[in-house]
This record gives sequence, structure tokens and C-alpha cells, in this order.
Amino acid sequence: MSRRRRVYEGKAKVLYEGPEPGTLVQHFKDDTTAFDATKREVIDGKGVLNNRISEYIFTKLNEIGVPTHFIRALNMREQLIREVEIIPVEVVVRNVAAGSLSKKLGIDEGTVLPRSIIEFYYKNDELHDPMVSEEHITAFGWATPQEIDDMMALALRINDFLTGLFLGIGIRLVDFKVEFGRLYEGEMVRVVLADEISPDCCRLWDTRTNDKLDKDRFRRDMGGLVEAYQEVARRLGVLVETEPKRRGPTLVK
Ligand code: UDP
Repeated sequence: MSRRRRVYEGKAKVLYEGPEPGTLVQHFKDDTTAFDATKREVIDGKGVLNNRISEYIFTKLNEIGVPTHFIRALNMREQLIREVEIIPVEVVVRNVAAGSLSKKLGIDEGTVLPRSIIEFYYKNDELHDPMVSEEHITAFGWATPQEIDDMMALALRINDFLTGLFLGIGIRLVDFKVEFGRLYEGEMVRVVLADEISPDCCRLWDTRTNDKLDKDRFRRDMGGLVEAYQEVARRLGVLVETEPKRRGPTLVK
């Protein structure tokens, strides 16, 4: 047995060298962080749920022609992906006011926005991911104008698709964050969806009760995070029944 080469370790995922050149294995950990990782906890089973949910969403997006880095599922915690060069810009799409938008602009959480709004944040932990404009992105060379256009068009298609997908299972897609990468194919380079789409990076509210089914449960110390993610997976029809393990009395023989 030989140890796999770890290419990158982030807050919630690890990337390993893949079986063929140009591929990577994306591994979902149970680590949960918020507020620039000043709040952290290991929540049993979260990685398995995010892997399943993200794999399902990326597969559906591939089916409607949204290019992604996803190749195929490998196991409960891992997926095979194409190696891309991550564009250092987080793209947030908002449909309903919440979180930092509510705080910054004084708009009550839950207010439906006049139209979907796209925001950009520079991916830089030391600077706490500051919000930036297209001007900053192009002036500092983080992405070209064409790449910004591609990211915006893809983000809006993803938003339309996910809004419908979640509405169909009684969930309101309030907002979400996506990341894109450059995929090099010979002479060509194109922008594809990378990273993950899971309740870690979306706000998902039950349409009937307004219950939060996302990472705000962790950020706001509400508890019940795994149960909420399980509920999302169950409604999507992808719940893995064998994990997370139930803690309870064990039979001693
Ligand atoms: N988000 C994320 N990673 C980040 C920042 C935000 O996944 O580093 C997601 C967050 O879960 C929410 C959306 O982007 O679905 C908008 O987040 P917001 O700007 O309101 O920031 P927050 O309130 O999370 O600090």
C-alpha cells in the first residue's frame, strides 16, 4: 500500500492526486468552520452528506449543459474531479436578503430581492474574503472580462436550475456561493464550475416553516446541523442510510 499524495487541504475538503493525469480526488471532511475558521467543530457525518448532495447537484448540472469539474462518484466521501486552476473569486447569488447583505444594507432577512443579485468576493483568508467589483477583478488580473461574463452567465443558470430543484422539494434557495476554475484542454481553456454545492455554501429555508436547513444552524449555534442536511438529502432522494452512525446503546454479547 502506498500513501496518496495530498495536493491541497482546505477547511472542509482535501484534494489528492487522481488516478490519471489531470484528475484529482476530492475528499469531504466532517470539519465545520465559520467566521474565517475562528469557530470550528467536527460534525460526524457532515462530509458524507455534502459529498452526496454536491455529487447529485453537479451531475444534474452536467446534464443540462453546465460544464463542471465533476467526473464521477468514488465512495461515501470522495469524488473524482478534473484538475482546474481555481479563479480566486467567490461568486455569490442572492434571491432573498440574508446574512451579510441584510447586515450591510439594513434589509430585513427574508425580504425578496427585486431581482437576483450577483456579488464577487476575493478569495483570500488573510483579508477575510473582501467584497470586490468587476473593476478590481480585471485590474488585478484575477479574471478576464470574458471570464467574468462566463461566471455570471453560469451562476444565473445554476441559480435558475437550483431554485426550481429546491422549490420542488419545499425548500427556498435564499442565496449560495460558487467557485469556478479554468479547465485547460490542449489549446483551449474554459471556465467550469468547481468546488462544491452543498448546504455548507447555500442558504436553504423550508418553504412552509422557514426552518433553516443549512450552515447557519452552525454559525448561529442552533444545533441539528446533520439532521438538517439529512433532511435536504432525503428530499433530494439521495440520503445515505448507513451513515452517519447513530450513537446509542450497543448490544454486548
Ligand atoms: N458563503 C460561503 N462561503 C463564504 C462566504 C459565504 O459559502 O466564505 C455562502 C453563505 O453560506 C451564503 C452565501 O454565500 O449562502 C452568502 O453569504 P453572506 O455573504 O451572507 O455571508 P455570511 O453571512 O455567510 O458571512
